[in-house]
Amino acid sequence: MKKYRSLICLLLALCLLLTGCRWPRNTKDPTKAPDTAAPTETEPEETTENITVHVSDDGRDPSISQGDAAMIRWQNKGARDYLPEAKVDLKTVSEMEYVRPDVATMYADFDSLIEDAATVTDAQALLDRCFKVFDQYTNFATMKTLANIRYSINNSDAFYRAEYDFCEAESPNVSEKMERLNKALAAGPTRERLEALYFGEGYFLKYDDYEVYTNPEYLALAKQEKELLTQYRDLVDNPTIEYDGEEQSFEELLGNTSGMDYLKVLKLYYNKYNPLLGELFIELVKVRKQLAAVLGYETYAAYSYDIVYERDYTPEQGAAFVQAVETELVPIYEQMQDSRDYRKYSSGFVSQPASEEQVREMVRTAAMNIGGAVADAYRFLELYDLADLTQADEKTNGSFMTYIYDYESPFIMVNSTGTGSDYSTFAHEFGHFTDAFFTYGADEDLETAETFSQSMEFLAVIYCDTLSSGERDNLLYGSTADLLTAFISQAAFAKFEQLVYELPDEELTLENVNGIYRQVAKDFGYYERTFDFYYSQSWVDVLHFFEVPYYVISYCVSAETALQVYRIETEKPGKGLITYFNLLARKEDEGIQRVAESAGLENPFNPASMERTAAFLTWALGLEE
Ligand SMILES: [Zn+2]
Repeated sequence: MKKYRSLICLLLALCLLLTGCRWPRNTKDPTKAPDTAAPTETEPEETTENITVHVSDDGRDPSISQGDAAMIRWQNKGARDYLPEAKVDLKTVSEMEYVRPDVATMYADFDSLIEDAATVTDAQALLDRCFKVFDQYTNFATMKTLANIRYSINNSDAFYRAEYDFCEAESPNVSEKMERLNKALAAGPTRERLEALYFGEGYFLKYDDYEVYTNPEYLALAKQEKELLTQYRDLVDNPTIEYDGEEQSFEELLGNTSGMDYLKVLKLYYNKYNPLLGELFIELVKVRKQLAAVLGYETYAAYSYDIVYERDYTPEQGAAFVQAVETELVPIYEQMQDSRDYRKYSSGFVSQPASEEQVREMVRTAAMNIGGAVADAYRFLELYDLADLTQADEKTNGSFMTYIYDYESPFIMVNSTGTGSDYSTFAHEFGHFTDAFFTYGADEDLETAETFSQSMEFLAVIYCDTLSSGERDNLLYGSTADLLTAFISQAAFAKFEQLVYELPDEELTLENVNGIYRQVAKDFGYYERTFDFYYSQSWVDVLHFFEVPYYVISYCVSAETALQVYRIETEKPGKGLITYFNLLARKEDEGIQRVAESAGLENPFNPASMERTAAFLTWALGLEE
């Protein structure tokens, strides 16, 4: 019964593009110009002694929790369990065939079903036809995901780029059909019977006066938004700048220059792309504000929290959380950046060369040591070759996990750097993978999803017993510093979005948007006057602002819960792991506050929790109280 609701939410997940991914970071840091980088310090000698794997000592047998978690996949019976007797043909990702979805047939089937829902009195017959359109629907989602995967692995592949654009453009139409069907079933004579047979009591209540995609004005605006996003991808796919009298690839130039030339290249890029992308972004913000207004929301924030993300906290709570990060954590962040440990950590393991095989082997070792549900997920990943960790220029920036519905398989793409830092990235995505594997890609909020990935970055280090203690400390320090940076940067980004969307249309100018970005960099303690051009213009590099507005706040909230898992594991070895398994065994359709509390974590919005987080970060980063 739950599954159908998940499918409806999938409509929105389809719009989200990024099921689980790492928080956006500055890839073009001006301070990273090769010969302006800080001098490296020599690492102290590492001991070769290996760590021991902890087991629970609180009286609970961890294998029982692991067994419970493993049951989730079984109980759900599969993402496609709405199709009675459906068997899933598991394949490796390269064997999954892409075929452009036949939307004409799907729409015709939807339309005739919608029409018949008003008169047909045989509920079972209607239900069987519903199953058929759900099948077409998940096939559409699957093909869109495959096109996205292949285009992300090679963004010079014009075929998959075009196919992805096609699916994107059709998405609002597909959503409109599904919503119309729900409304028709709600208004038809079989409503009670359908609820009793399959959907659950009260399911159709919501559809009595529900109108999102079935509002023609909304649908038109949603399509306009998709068109703007296609233009966005055209602009960012292969940026070029005029250099030495000819138009050249920006990425190549950036990789081949150093020092002042590097800065010159960077400035030329922003001179060209800040206005181009800025203009597009301003258009997007205006369209989005209209989308919210059409549905009767006063602000875009209220609309997106409610309709797009279905968060269990309000924009006001979100803003208060961002404020708490600014007050409690900015001083720690500033102290960390000045510390000796921070200056030397980046020359440690995280920056040393690491091959794809090494990175895979380390995560594999950790997964096997953790055991139970997590080990099963890793075996599945290996069996069906569900992770791409190659290093290539043609890959889309950033790494992600996505769920391929028809094959009931999660898939990971890591944009590898060839260094030890890939270990944390892969561990992060593997956290998403484990979650999606056991819940069949069930609908969940972003905060819950990111709790699994961010806390796995720590657990994967703690339980990888082939690391030396030096490597282990370096990775743990790195993940902690990274999480604090996530707190700071994503809270700053959230505040940026909040302030930009609050501007009245006539004040939505490039100058004002750049000014807000500069201001939040100052507020959150990472502004540098020397690189003013960067700290005012580089927001155009943040994909999330364009593709998934109001997403970034989720990374901050989950950083809080993920850090609690790490803190618990530190205080009592093995207990953090049990918390992780308890999180896996959560109930469907619960928001982060309920999920956290049922797994024994504190509510992340509790101000006392943020204070404890601040104290733990100070300790974990070796800073002065
Ligand atoms: Zn993530």
